[in-house]
Amino acid sequence: MKRILAGLIVLALLVGGGLYAARGPLALKVMERRVVEGMTADLVGSLPDGLHVVVCGSGGPFPDGDRGAPCTAVIAGKRLFIVDTGEAAGRTLGRLGIGGDSVVLLTHFHSDHIDGLGNVALMRWVGGNRDTPLLLYGAPGVERVAAGFNEAYIFDSGYRTAHHGPEVAPPSGAGIIPRPIMLPTGADSVVVLEEDGVKITAFRVDHGPVEPALGYRFDYKGRSVVISGDTSASPVVAAQAKGVDLLVHEALSPELVKLLQDGSSRAGLPKRAKIMADIPNYHTSPLDAAKIARSSGARALLLTHIVPPLPVRALEGPFLGKAREAYDGPLWIARDGDLLSMPAGGTDIKRRRLR
Ligand SMILES: [Zn+2]
Ligand SMILES: [Zn+2]
Repeated sequence: MKRILAGLIVLALLVGGGLYAARGPLALKVMERRVVEGMTADLVGSLPDGLHVVVCGSGGPFPDGDRGAPCTAVIAGKRLFIVDTGEAAGRTLGRLGIGGDSVVLLTHFHSDHIDGLGNVALMRWVGGNRDTPLLLYGAPGVERVAAGFNEAYIFDSGYRTAHHGPEVAPPSGAGIIPRPIMLPTGADSVVVLEEDGVKITAFRVDHGPVEPALGYRFDYKGRSVVISGDTSASPVVAAQAKGVDLLVHEALSPELVKLLQDGSSRAGLPKRAKIMADIPNYHTSPLDAAKIARSSGARALLLTHIVPPLPVRALEGPFLGKAREAYDGPLWIARDGDLLSMPAGGTDIKRRRLR
């Protein structure tokens, strides 16, 4: 019996050792296949006609291993729009196979919403071989943000063209062109763009002292999505979201942030505690977002800009609090890589996870 057992152990070690040695070559084979798949992936081209939302950053400004900083991609037909470009936005979009030409719309200029902008512009330019700069929509002030990024990337742009040649990195495609959005006096909203059947409306939200801060509504072939941007509970969002298919609303849990505030105080960090005490007043709780979804008749609610980070799924219940009781429709907490599809001519909303 002992001899059989010893034999089995030796056999297991040999097989295990063989597999271990084969790991590298196997991984190379997989990589060989994945490289081509990754380089030819084209999510925008592969989706059916309709309005689609991809979450390319569902976190907020806190360090979060699971969620990138704010980024929401909207695909309308074959057009790609990216709302906010938080840190890691470019890498996440690339990983999800979302490329091609794009237009960026900023909700406001808080650092976590723009700190991935340079890379998004670069990936579009060199990765997508574009010969025109990125168009960047935003509130007045967007000219300075664009100028700052253009200045910061001035050396990098030169290196890319010098290294790869103007055929691959045409100098005319480098950088960003700002498109300021002017809200008419006394108006809460303005149509920003109407092309290829896509209508984008910008609207004023309440994120003071950030002024103006914007949200966006997209309409395409009878389907619609509203993206709140950063805001406290706002009647303007509720008005824009009237009957919308999907409301993508920011969410901050005051209860969980209070835990961080108390923890900061106990740790002897009063200034950090003050930041934690300050932030709930210009964001929206999951419960209030659910009430807005209900009052506006939104068909589905996706909570994003998740603050604070939820390192374990078990925290999702405490994060939501009583939100599910306030809203009957589908309510999801966004995760990076979520795809929500609203086919043209339909009424359904399909949700699935990309990679
Ligand atoms: Zn934010
Ligand atoms: Zn903000």
